[in-house]
Amino acid sequence: TWMTAPETRAVMDILNRDGDMARFVGGCVRSAVLDLPIADVDIATRYNPETVTKILEAEGIRVVPTGLEHGTVTAVVNHEHFEITTLRLDVETDGRRAVVAFTEDWREDAARRDFTMNAMFMRPDGSLDDPFGGHSDALAGKVRFVGDPVTRIREDVLRILRFFRFHAHYGRGAIDPAGLHACHETAPLIRELSGERIRVEFLKLLVAPSPLSVLEIMEKSGVLPVFLPGPYDFETLSRLIAFGSRTPDPVLRLAAFAPERADQAFRASERMRFSNAEAARFHTLSTTELAPLPEEAAARREIYRHGNALFEDLIRLQAARGVLDLRHAERLRTLSAHWPKPELPVRGADLVKMGLAAGPAVGEALRRLEAWWIAGDFAPDRETCLAETRRIIAEESK
Ligand code: ATP
Ligand code: MG
Repeated sequence: TWMTAPETRAVMDILNRDGDMARFVGGCVRSAVLDLPIADVDIATRYNPETVTKILEAEGIRVVPTGLEHGTVTAVVNHEHFEITTLRLDVETDGRRAVVAFTEDWREDAARRDFTMNAMFMRPDGSLDDPFGGHSDALAGKVRFVGDPVTRIREDVLRILRFFRFHAHYGRGAIDPAGLHACHETAPLIRELSGERIRVEFLKLLVAPSPLSVLEIMEKSGVLPVFLPGPYDFETLSRLIAFGSRTPDPVLRLAAFAPERADQAFRASERMRFSNAEAARFHTLSTTELAPLPEEAAARREIYRHGNALFEDLIRLQAARGVLDLRHAERLRTLSAHWPKPELPVRGADLVKMGLAAGPAVGEALRRLEAWWIAGDFAPDRETCLAETRRIIAEESK
């Protein structure tokens, strides 16, 4: 397993040469007790970052200062990355960032972590240090705050979103009532969070195997409307998830659940800090109606316009919305799978070679040629297109 991999062993052996100075922490420990695959190995240590760096570098291990302000360095062994963070406590918090101080006390570090299942340490021999009962909570599917939920949320409001995110992934049975009540009470504080932090947590929530019941709870408790404009389309998201297959796509799921509308007071894509490309995709998925597309030629034009991947996403979404029936959707997807979007067989450089001056005229002629080529169902080959190009240029210069 990851714990006994030579890279992990190398780092842990060096750090623990003089006693119990480094342990596994966070997601990898949670996954270990739940027997789940792990994403990354995080290590907590009683050494300060300078000492960690010195000790590891003395053994020829590369150390990169990746987050010194919160006490984190990253060790790189055979292309494997290990985040090593010095034990700390959050001395002062204003709901958005913390002033940190280092400590050598395992329990103090565990106490500043968010949920009991995230506040366990595992020693290199596999034994657990579990000060708040995280092991049994993890097994029972209970996401519980370490300490008083309202206090912990006031220290860092992001914990509201993390509470629902972890419940979506690890929760079983009813959501923790004390945690839920605290989230309800403090929901308006979410407005103070940066979009970037909301984005990370909410998109992780959306890709949970079944996020629907958690989204329902978030709506009822008043948390969701604070950062995501409604109305919410639970049915469409539910059908989209039921189609299954591919790895879950958060932008597609969001477009199913809360599509963007022109009259919205605030836009989810801005709140989520979508990149321009993501925002464009979210917009297209939200607003494009493909149905009914009776002929294949019409479908090919849509594939050409959107690209195969986006076209196939649009099909799934339309089917989930009930706009397209499933058999039709399946036919269109097969069509797209067998028809990679073709490229216009003529380029700007060809037109310049024909004597057209580089500049807007080239773009204009290309657009006319492309429209003609599309109308011809993408059939005209390069020779035929070049002939048409000559005709277009001659006509333009008249
Ligand atoms: P994954 O990486 O699989 O999403 P994780 O548990 O590693 O899950 P991270 O967000 O990577 O989650 O955080 C690592 C650990 O740091 C958490 O397990 C938790 O102990 C602590 N932590 C992270 N964010 C917070 C926070 N806002 N408040 C308190 N503790 C936190
Ligand atoms: Mg992690």
